[in-house]
Amino acid sequence: MLKLYNSLTRRKQVFRPIHDKKIGMYTCGITAYYSPHIGNMRKYLEDDVLKRMLVHKGFSVTHVENVTDVGHLASDADTGDDKLRLAAEKEHRSMKDVAGFYTKMFFDDCKMLNIIPPDIVCKATEHVHDMIKLLEVLDSKGYLYKAENGMYFDTSKFKGYGKLTGLSFKRLNAELKEGARIGKVEGKRHATDFAVWRFSTPDQKEMVWDTRWGRGFPGWHLECSAMSMKYLGNHFDIHTGGIDHLQIHHPNEIAQSEAATGEKFVNFWLHSNFLTVDGGKMSKSMGNIYTVQQVIEKGYSPMALRMFMISGQYRQTLNFTFDALSNAEFGVKRLYSFIERLQENRNKARNVDTKEFRKKVRELKSGFFRELDDDINMPEALARLYALINETNSRSESTKLNRSEARTVIKAMLEIDQILGLGFSGRITAKPAKLDKEIQVLVDEREEARRKKDFDRADEIRAMLKERYQVTLEDTKEGVRWRKE
Ligand code: AMP
Ligand code: ZN
Repeated sequence: MLKLYNSLTRRKQVFRPIHDKKIGMYTCGITAYYSPHIGNMRKYLEDDVLKRMLVHKGFSVTHVENVTDVGHLASDADTGDDKLRLAAEKEHRSMKDVAGFYTKMFFDDCKMLNIIPPDIVCKATEHVHDMIKLLEVLDSKGYLYKAENGMYFDTSKFKGYGKLTGLSFKRLNAELKEGARIGKVEGKRHATDFAVWRFSTPDQKEMVWDTRWGRGFPGWHLECSAMSMKYLGNHFDIHTGGIDHLQIHHPNEIAQSEAATGEKFVNFWLHSNFLTVDGGKMSKSMGNIYTVQQVIEKGYSPMALRMFMISGQYRQTLNFTFDALSNAEFGVKRLYSFIERLQENRNKARNVDTKEFRKKVRELKSGFFRELDDDINMPEALARLYALINETNSRSESTKLNRSEARTVIKAMLEIDQILGLGFSGRITAKPAKLDKEIQVLVDEREEARRKKDFDRADEIRAMLKERYQVTLEDTKEGVRWRKE
């Protein structure tokens, strides 16, 4: 039974889909005006794990993710210009070019990290029509008013504005004022009110649309309401986002959607915590960011990065260090060589007590999934995986794991990898290929040379294996093992 911490109710709840086996899941995507950093990627990796879990449980998931390519203002207080417009000015190219460039970079990084692509990727600029339709409804219901720089949503008119944060309307307004989030927008009535339509200035020519309220561009919050409901319906199952969206962006989405439809918007709100550096958020403004590409250029593999990022619990912060990443690299290599060794296991001996061992494997594998069912407790789930590996290794060393037992473990590992996404299946070759036979002949010849104490010949073969086949040898208690690099 899957339990997830729902920010809306502030407790773990049993997850039950609205429509039997079908799940609608919406992810707040990137604002495409800068190179995404690994902090951003943590959030999308956490969503990837959740999605894989749901699929593993047999649900059919429709995953929608937006790309903000217009309307995300530089300040939460509705002052300042669009981040995309500012980036375009700085880079001397069009907003469209800027957005296209960074969107591609983001999805290339996702691919590198083996993040399953969303079923629907929707760009704000391609859905302005849907946003305007939503505004028409909100306007007809009396939620909108005009202020100095745009049309605003009157949050005092929407009962339950504070339901996601658990704070009263009064308290939220006081907090926003205290945090100096309220800028000096003439005519803005409450600190929590937000721009749904920003008027453009006459010099702004790109990404502006004419409406009956005036020429301009949509507010950032509006796009997520309009696009999520367009593709998933007025009421859907899961909405995710970074923890920084809990205070403003998501309450605003709820207000717009529920005010317009009169229905509940989303059942489960999930918020993932930050990737930190020295305890502080990794962010562009702090200047402490690394991109996926930079990490790879330093010699780390994308799968080590993936493993590191998903190894924490998503609601806790995760502190990034290169030492921690090195550990993850080592861990991934160990997982791969564990699988390769299992595959190489050629011992056909029948063990009498094989049933006990299989039972243990089944229990540990189920333990992995059970821990994930507890609000995606990945650290505990990984502990079960390591216990499974230890159990197998000790059997392999003492009684010799037989071939069918090895297959049972491989099957369990592949199932676990449906969630981890580290590519275990790529480490398994169905049958020793012809080339492997050639290598085996040389390995056997080297063994024979060693037995005859012809160490020169043995060394020669070792060097040849390395040079010609990129094969390294490992002398173990059970004999020699070889591995392709
Ligand atoms: P943005 O493009 O700024 O809208 O950010 C995209 C997503 O990345 C948002 O959901 C943020 O919450 C998330 N994000 C940004 N920085 C971090 C970080 N250091 N750790 C985890 N998630 C982050
Ligand atoms: Zn959003």
